[in-house]
Amino acid sequence: MKPDHPAHAAPADAAARKAIAPVICYPVEGLPRPDLAPYLAARDGWALVSETLVPARAARCFSVPAGHFFRILSVEGPQVGDLNLWAAGNLAERFYSGKTRALHGTHLSSGDRMWSSFPTLRPMATITDDTLDWYGFDAFGGSVHDVIGTRCDPYTHNLLSDGGQYHHCCHSNLTRALADHTGLSLAEAEPHVHDVLNVFMCTGFTRDTGQYFMKASPVRPGDHLEFFAEIDLIGGLSACPGGDCSSEHSSDTAACHPLLVQVFRPVAAPVGWVMPAVNGYDRRHGR
Ligand SMILES: [Zn+2]
Repeated sequence: MKPDHPAHAAPADAAARKAIAPVICYPVEGLPRPDLAPYLAARDGWALVSETLVPARAARCFSVPAGHFFRILSVEGPQVGDLNLWAAGNLAERFYSGKTRALHGTHLSSGDRMWSSFPTLRPMATITDDTLDWYGFDAFGGSVHDVIGTRCDPYTHNLLSDGGQYHHCCHSNLTRALADHTGLSLAEAEPHVHDVLNVFMCTGFTRDTGQYFMKASPVRPGDHLEFFAEIDLIGGLSACPGGDCSSEHSSDTAACHPLLVQVFRPVAAPVGWVMPAVNGYDRRHGR
């Protein structure tokens, strides 16, 4: 946070420097948005091939073949979910929250991609439908589906609670779920858990202090966020112990609900779709 009383006096031209207009870091002209029409058309006649119910304060992993769709659905009550993605068969290729934020902004919706880590940096999934797209940004600067939070975790909780031990943060839930899905030990699985897409969570930064905030999610049973798997995926979804994240997480005090994941197989791939190749940089790094 910035100090209330800066140690250094502002220079004479401070106002002029602060008045300079910002420049978008990654202009969208260099990254055309996908045409969603072929994706949406491919949903006609699709078949539900699997359902995974994620219990409250727990996580589950699920597989989605390339070319399939998956939905995360609100059921029973308002609940946020922390989503990890890995390339099936290569856990080293995983969702890169920070670069996705740099490319698409702080909160995702239809047409945005979930990008993978270096050196592959390619779309892992494309968001094809978002029933909360009406929310936009509220008067506090808040919105849903952020890529600014990391995930609730027991280490930060320990720091902030004078040594508290809590075992159902999303980080631990995802660690257990990935271990169960892959056969890895908890110690082997934990380093693969990464910064998330905060599905349905309503967050922002306070305008005066720039602090990360959360507020009650506007999600209601029946809402969903829908993705198209651009590559073979393992997904991990935690039903956050914060519930709708209206008060706190890292405890069992919040009302929590399950989340449902559905995987759909289309009759045919979207017209013109090809699986994204790994990133084209030659990796010589100047040598
Ligand atoms: Zn959480």
